Amino acid sequence: MKLELSEKMLAAAAGWPVVHAARKIRDSGKVSRVSCEPPLIKGAVRSGSRTYGAGLRIGANIENLCGCYDSWSEGIICAHSVAVALVVMASPEVAEKAPTAAGPAPASEVR
Ligand SMILES: [Zn+2]
Repeated sequence: MKLELSEKMLAAAAGWPVVHAARKIRDSGKVSRVSCEPPLIKGAVRSGSRTYGAGLRIGANIENLCGCYDSWSEGIICAHSVAVALVVMASPEVAEKAPTAAGPAPASEVR
């Protein structure tokens, strides 16, 4: 089963500020143990002295599975889970079928 994932999709669900925060989390190497079992993606995200079990369920709606305060108190999709999604998207060995694997840089990214 192929998992449809894109930054655009994550931004539509979580908002661009969350996606930007998630990029920072990813770039600082705080995401580990990512796994992809469609429709679930999971990972561990270090935040300060804590590690959250974060993840998303990708369906008609994106459901946040993170255990952090923002997630359960506000019901929002938090940067931890989006960071996990970004790592999965960038890891062909995790998400076996990357949407862009078929050709050169996609021209459909124009906005
Ligand atoms: Zn979180």
